[in-house]
Amino acid sequence: MPESRIDYLPLSMLNQLEYCPRRFWLMCVCGEMEVNAPVLEGTYQHQRVHTGGTTREGDTLVHRRVYLWSDRLRVAGFADVVEEREGVLIPVEYKHGRMGRWLNDHIQLCAQALCLEERTGRPVERGAIFYWKSRRRLWVEITPDLRARTEAAVARAFALLEDGKIPPPTEQWARCRDCSLEPVCLPREVQYLLSLEVEGR
Ligand code: SF4
Repeated sequence: MPESRIDYLPLSMLNQLEYCPRRFWLMCVCGEMEVNAPVLEGTYQHQRVHTGGTTREGDTLVHRRVYLWSDRLRVAGFADVVEEREGVLIPVEYKHGRMGRWLNDHIQLCAQALCLEERTGRPVERGAIFYWKSRRRLWVEITPDLRARTEAAVARAFALLEDGKIPPPTEQWARCRDCSLEPVCLPREVQYLLSLEVEGR
């Protein structure tokens, strides 16, 4: 069985957890990563923001690929971009897909905001997600509710790792259709085997 002990949780894994706990486990513990066409496209789209450094765009400093962490939450990872305007910090996450109200994306962004606050001592009141397919930026307020959900997601992730068992497939089958790990996960086959166990066959 793969080792599930982890000191600092990668920020991006919070996104996976909210999408599907089994996907989180497969990626975080087993190191699984299927490179299908959408994943590859997303990688190419991220290439610019994944080149570090700071540039000035008008009155805004744009910091790219910023390493962040929180000792309190035990999470760490990169923000694609942190914009700085008149002392105000705004984390910006780039996503491959279309704009929607995806809680998993909001939680990843909020975790970046919490790290940024801990690192700088400055409040981060909002962030943004840029969706490539929609070519649009969605503003996300870092509300008390979103902060609480994000901290709950971190606690859930560590609880799952502590538990040491791979979660069952999600019952939200539509998610499996869009999941790059479907060929590794085999959700329907696993669900069938689990149903046999329940029936005692
Ligand atoms: S195929 Fe479905 S159950 Fe398996 S990891 Fe992906 S979303 Fe989760």
